[in-house]
Amino acid sequence: MARKLIAGNWKMNGLRDFGKDLANDLLARLEKQAELACDILICPPAPLLGPLSRLLAGKVIGLGGQDCHWETSGAHTGDISAAMLKDSGCSHVIVGHSERRADHGESSAVVKSKALAAQAAGLVPIVCVGETLAERDAGQALMVIERQIRESISEHLPVVLAYEPVWAIGTGKTPTVEDIAEVHAMIRALLGELIGPGAAEIQILYGGSVKPGNAAEILAIADVDGALVGGASLKAEDFWLIATAVRQA
Ligand code: PEP
Repeated sequence: MARKLIAGNWKMNGLRDFGKDLANDLLARLEKQAELACDILICPPAPLLGPLSRLLAGKVIGLGGQDCHWETSGAHTGDISAAMLKDSGCSHVIVGHSERRADHGESSAVVKSKALAAQAAGLVPIVCVGETLAERDAGQALMVIERQIRESISEHLPVVLAYEPVWAIGTGKTPTVEDIAEVHAMIRALLGELIGPGAAEIQILYGGSVKPGNAAEILAIADVDGALVGGASLKAEDFWLIATAVRQA
């Protein structure tokens, strides 16, 4: 079984002082804790990566990017390469978040290229998939997620999967425990088919309105190897309570 990962996606939130205060708050809590039962990763906006990598150097909180380009360099104004993220102290990068799929029209083929670029640069891609409410209501959730995974990942490791139902992101709504369990079991079996025996060790995160009040229940579900946390990752107390909920799970 994979060690659990709690990843915070700060999205487009926070200036330098906010980021440093939040990271320092988490570090202070960590110092008081003998051992944490999970890995912690924060994914701040790109301009905060430099200052935060200096602050987190040698600490157990990892740093991740929120997106990368599929090319290694070139004429792509405004974009960031995977190697730049690596050079800024990142270990992971989120690719294919539903907000990028929606706001930037990213197809699963594009997401796959980004995941490959991340791996080539020595990063772990966190590949996001998830159905819309209309797709769930139409009974198509499993089919949609399976198609997204087949099109978004290759057989290469390392990779982290994040199941994020689009309708649960930032809405306060979450699927039932049974629905999450069904999707994660399907993803584990599919990874077995696509990747082979190594699939058992791949972290499959759940994301979508995870908060202190529901974290322990969600993290206890079979094949849920952690959480990708949006809104609640912007408050040190909430993010910390989610990370420490791993111990109860
Ligand atoms: C996300 O954006 O990845 C996310 C899960 O957001 P929230 O936790 O706010 O639903």
